[in-house]
Amino acid sequence: MASKYLDKTSLRGLEKVGNVLIPGNQHYPKFSHLRTLRNIDRIIGELPSADLTDLALFLKVLAWTPSLFIKALFWLITKKDLFPDFLAGPLRLMDIGLKGIIYTLYYSNTSQTENILKSMEYCAETPSYEGSPMQTNTAAMTPDEGNLESGSIDLDKIFEKAKNAGSQIGKLTIRERLAPLIELKELVLERQEELIDIIQKETNKSRSDALFSEIFPIVDTLHWMEVEAENILKDKKVKTPIVLMGKTSYIYHQGLGVVLVISPWNYPLFQALVPIAHALICGNAVIYKPSEFTPLKGAVESLLNDAGVSSDLVQVIYGGGKLGSDLIEKRPDKIFFTGSVGTGKKIMQQAGKHLIPVELELGGKDPMIVFEDANIQRSVKGAAWGAMTNAGQSCTSVERLYVHEDIYENFKSELIVEVGKIKQLIDTNGNSDIGHMTNSQQAKKVRALVLDAVAKGAKALTNEYWIESPKSELEIPAIVLEGVTSEMEIWDCEIFGPILPIFKFSSEIDVINRANDSSFGLSASVWTADKTRATRVTKSLETGNVSVNNVMLTEGNPYLPFGGVKNSGIGRYKGAHGLLSFCNIKSVLFDGNSSKVEANWYPYTTEKYHLFDNLMQALFKGGIMGLIKFAFYGLKLEMLSGKLGKKGRA
Ligand code: NAD
Repeated sequence: MASKYLDKTSLRGLEKVGNVLIPGNQHYPKFSHLRTLRNIDRIIGELPSADLTDLALFLKVLAWTPSLFIKALFWLITKKDLFPDFLAGPLRLMDIGLKGIIYTLYYSNTSQTENILKSMEYCAETPSYEGSPMQTNTAAMTPDEGNLESGSIDLDKIFEKAKNAGSQIGKLTIRERLAPLIELKELVLERQEELIDIIQKETNKSRSDALFSEIFPIVDTLHWMEVEAENILKDKKVKTPIVLMGKTSYIYHQGLGVVLVISPWNYPLFQALVPIAHALICGNAVIYKPSEFTPLKGAVESLLNDAGVSSDLVQVIYGGGKLGSDLIEKRPDKIFFTGSVGTGKKIMQQAGKHLIPVELELGGKDPMIVFEDANIQRSVKGAAWGAMTNAGQSCTSVERLYVHEDIYENFKSELIVEVGKIKQLIDTNGNSDIGHMTNSQQAKKVRALVLDAVAKGAKALTNEYWIESPKSELEIPAIVLEGVTSEMEIWDCEIFGPILPIFKFSSEIDVINRANDSSFGLSASVWTADKTRATRVTKSLETGNVSVNNVMLTEGNPYLPFGGVKNSGIGRYKGAHGLLSFCNIKSVLFDGNSSKVEANWYPYTTEKYHLFDNLMQALFKGGIMGLIKFAFYGLKLEMLSGKLGKKGRA
């Protein structure tokens, strides 16, 4: 292979880097096996001559560099925090540039593309996006029951495919599993506007809600995985105590097999890609069932296929609750469920029959507690956003606002002004705060809760007009509600709409008790200038997550696990804890292949019993004498065990 621009050594360097990035496996041919370099001049021919000279030189250096070193270099570049800014930038550019050339060469090798795709088992009938360009959903969204409910697809076959794919991905290294997820991150960034169109069409969100709460956290989580997953999931050597002298212990993190992900409708792209990515990086295959209200048909498959994930590894199956239940009956190795408490309970009951591990991310009734020393302007704005973001259709939105009596009236006046300013429109340019409700079922529920509360004495402090004359079923405006009592249904029921009940409290203990007096325990927020008080209150709250002087922000940090207590769910996802929950955490102990007979093996004798007793007493008493005694009894026990092992009981 000759090039107008690169000599033989530079080409050799390029091929070497290519093989480091695409080493090949049973599905993907190795970079150099595809004669990929024949398109090189078409790819780099457009570069300015100075860049061409630099590239040729750099590749020449790489030609003489050991592959292991090149691999280490790419790894080092991902640790950008290790480098000063002036070095991190150029290194990252170099990284992107080289990968760009190599992946373009690989995938543009037209004579082979078909074979590559076949070997990667790309779905021939990849569904395409339906319904784009954007049309906002002014009519109530009707659930899409999919085609499985009619029994037209064979669930056994779906599970069989998933099991095979799961055993394949389990054999890949974490780096290899990471590669398509890094690609997925790039694709989500590239296609962000197109994806937001689809999300808006099905959910009626404002455009900014879709960007801030779906696109950003997806990319952020994938980026976190890129940086952290390998370290969390690699095999770990752990300590082996002195009593097991001569042995070594490890923890392996392996896939569980097939993970069934069942999602709700409120963050449909986020609730799809984030759990799927968790399952994949840990070495599992995924069967994903989106909500029938927001199927985003074809979008998830298209992203995953383009990222290089085979259609067997992640299968998207459309349908409603009946299908979800039928899929559970096929016994996946784990169920990751996000949705309502009612469905969560049904799922756990069904999973219990087959002992399938479940993770339940359920509803919330999050309290926000504002003490008298909090910054009022900030906490008012925090309350308005925390309650109304995504039109209140968020599991961690503020549903109970407790304000200290000393600042209550002042706070309330400012809150009414702030909430009154919220702009409501399913916009196309990011210039709107909230959109409309996603579906009619939920809109009806929210309206019934508010009407019940008002009938029993509660008062709407904002957008009162909506009580008497709503503009449309799905357009529920932001409402602050005062005077909510335990006689009202809204008291301990998840609202899941843009409604904010506000309460006055008098003391720390009073507010802690009231905040904890709920069947839910997802998140909370505490607002105060006193860090000691913030820590004390945070520790007293019965929730899975607490933000101090901020709201819903634990979710914003991918290093923090997420999940609830009480009716808000079981388990954690995200962060290191979250990744590990998708793994079979395997404990492994290595011993030597000798003829030695262990002291705790048969035969048991009275002498052995006493020696072992003495050894145990010495071991756990500690101190230097304990250690000496331990060594003495240990030696005697070993000798006795060896003797008994050869001759048997006398
Ligand atoms: P839902 O429980 O009605 O439905 C969720 C999913 O479960 C859907 O895909 C549905 O088809 C499926 N399903 C229904 N019945 C089933 C069954 N018997 N077996 C298997 N699957 C079944 O919830 P929703 O209305 O879509 O979502 C809103 C709820 O989700 C709210 O309660 C909200 O708080 C919660 N949520 C929680 C989190 C969290 O992370 N904790 C995040 C988002 C939403």
